[in-house]
Amino acid sequence: MNEYDSEKISELVTNALGFSEIDSPKQAALIIVNTCSVREKAQEKLFSDLGRFRLLKKRNPELVIAVGGCVAVQEKSEILKRAPYVDLIFGPQTLQHLPEMYFELKQKQHPIININTNVFDKFNYFPKPHAKGPSAFVSIMEGCNKFCSYCIVPFTRGREVSRPVADVLQEISELAQQGVKEINLLGQNVNAYSGIAANNHPSTLAELLLKIAEIPNIQRIRFTTSHPAAFTDDLIQAYAAEPKIVNHLHLPVQSGSNRILKLMRRGYTAEEYIEKINKLKSVRPGISISSDFIVGFPGETANDFQDTLNLVKTIGFDASFSFIYSARPNTRAAKLLDDISLAEKQERLQILQNLLASSVRKISNSMLGTKPQILVLGRAKKNSQQQSGRTENNRVVNFTSTQNLTGELVTVLITEALSNSLRGILEK
Ligand code: SAH
Ligand code: SF4
Repeated sequence: MNEYDSEKISELVTNALGFSEIDSPKQAALIIVNTCSVREKAQEKLFSDLGRFRLLKKRNPELVIAVGGCVAVQEKSEILKRAPYVDLIFGPQTLQHLPEMYFELKQKQHPIININTNVFDKFNYFPKPHAKGPSAFVSIMEGCNKFCSYCIVPFTRGREVSRPVADVLQEISELAQQGVKEINLLGQNVNAYSGIAANNHPSTLAELLLKIAEIPNIQRIRFTTSHPAAFTDDLIQAYAAEPKIVNHLHLPVQSGSNRILKLMRRGYTAEEYIEKINKLKSVRPGISISSDFIVGFPGETANDFQDTLNLVKTIGFDASFSFIYSARPNTRAAKLLDDISLAEKQERLQILQNLLASSVRKISNSMLGTKPQILVLGRAKKNSQQQSGRTENNRVVNFTSTQNLTGELVTVLITEALSNSLRGILEK
């Protein structure tokens, strides 16, 4: 989501202000820091980056420093206090105004701030979609109404708002005409999608997926992030009906303990989560499932943690993300007694990550000898003689071919499973 926003910021600023991107901040006339405040670590990184940029500004007083994203919303006053040399402060819903804010600054010479989270017009300001390869991201909704007890997102990105179906389809059609084959739909809670459709009624995510599948050239559809409580039967039917929806789902469970899930206010139990996955597997055997996990939530006991490990073993998750709980301002969980030591949290994280890694290895090994379709994305990173693509479950596959197959869907026999990628032989 943040990467998508950063890309849009970059397009806006290059189009409207005539800047071009450079590799190092040292020669920059404008530095834009886009931030994430989901965990405290990301937030602290902002202040250490700003410290470095202050020195650059000392040497070049004309340098303009802009801070955007969720930390800007959450920590506006702190930024003004700790880094008074910051010129522009904008939020995830006001990034479209960055060019005007820049011009205003040039006239008024004081920090310009616009961090409103109650507006939803940024998509009207974005330049025409421009494909950067065979795979593209398209935001379909913003914000979140779930208020999980640990999460800052509803406070910084605001409430759920969906883009109209026609806008989403138009953007995807334009990308498809430019050669895009794979669409990644984005939103904090994509299965709450309710964009207005041609019949003036709100569309569900399942209906939207089926419409996108009709767009010529679109071969693969992904979406992230889904919420398990809102992962409804109509979505499972969409998986059954439409093979272009990839055989992979990111469905963050967070914990395997029902007691912790309740404290997190997630709205489902571990058993309900398993039941949904089983239903999905009944229409899509072999689908790969990935998740996010939080370890060390306040009051998480050794037994609660064991429940999470058991769930990982039951589901056999594919490549997932796991984090140590980080107390965030304004959230309900921040008021709970956080009595687990950091050393204990780190140990649990390590145990969980080892288990997840072994689950990922098992899946990679099970792919040996199979012939998945991969979408070729370009040259391999480490060996320019090779080409590289991705399977539906996001494995990087490198293979040799004399032809440039970028943008093609090809079949590859998997011959080697390495720790971060697979190798294969192109099928004729
Ligand atoms: N909307 C998505 C993800 C939002 S944030 C969802 O509901 O799944 C991405 C991930 O960051 C979350 O899934 C969660 O695992 C993690 N996260 C969010 N708040 C956190 C916190 N306070 N401490 C640690 N991890 C957190
Ligand atoms: Fe945060 Fe929960 Fe919303 Fe995800 S669903 S963004 S974790 S509040």
